[in-house]
Amino acid sequence: MVDSGSARNKVLEAALALFRRGLLVGTGGNVSVRIGDDDFLAITPSQRDYLELTADDICVVAFDGTQIEGTSSPSVETRMHTSIYQARPDVNAIVHTHQVHASVFAILGLPIPALTDEQVANIGNTVAVVPYGLSGSHDLMANIAAAVSNKCNAFVLQNHGALLLGIDMERALRNAELLEKTAHAYQMVLATGKAAATLPEDVEVAVFDMLKSEQRTEVRRKRKAREAQG
Ligand code: 13P
Ligand code: ZN
Repeated sequence: MVDSGSARNKVLEAALALFRRGLLVGTGGNVSVRIGDDDFLAITPSQRDYLELTADDICVVAFDGTQIEGTSSPSVETRMHTSIYQARPDVNAIVHTHQVHASVFAILGLPIPALTDEQVANIGNTVAVVPYGLSGSHDLMANIAAAVSNKCNAFVLQNHGALLLGIDMERALRNAELLEKTAHAYQMVLATGKAAATLPEDVEVAVFDMLKSEQRTEVRRKRKAREAQG
């Protein structure tokens, strides 16, 4: 298997960074990374205090659900992560949080429109609301697998939390921060009672096209790497 040790360290470091930034709270949320171009992921264990985790606690799981490595049980949302990697070959890292400002929109059931070019360049032209499904359920997994076909990298999960995707872990982490900043600003705009000005449509389309093009390049890179391996 490709590089599972560094994948486990990457997941641990990312979870701790999110915890330090206040985006992961308590034992909520989970973090994963695709291992190489193979059908495996490294993911945080279920219901564990982030500050007590070591790399040995990070689980390596095959996409068919078989646990390969790790001394703890994997996150209850492992199937959700797997279904995203299968639906979105451009995605190599996933962060699920219960971060506060994004949760406001998850609880309102309100999508966030395109407000800044920075937002669209990284997370796409909308933050869609994924319909409710109980944590760890097949319904939640199916609702998310359908939602991610919009090629965006940030979602709010109705009455639950947030979901961030990235070509790599650095991008998934950046998207978690960017979503929080965007949600915070939009929440404050809505509180004024005045209408928000959205990004001009031609800018929104052009900037989102650049993101989608970058994502297609990643899919082509993987296809070529697989072909080269035979
Ligand atoms: P886990 O601790 O099993 O990852 O669950 C946390 C969570 O956020 C469920 O949605
Ligand atoms: Zn959750």
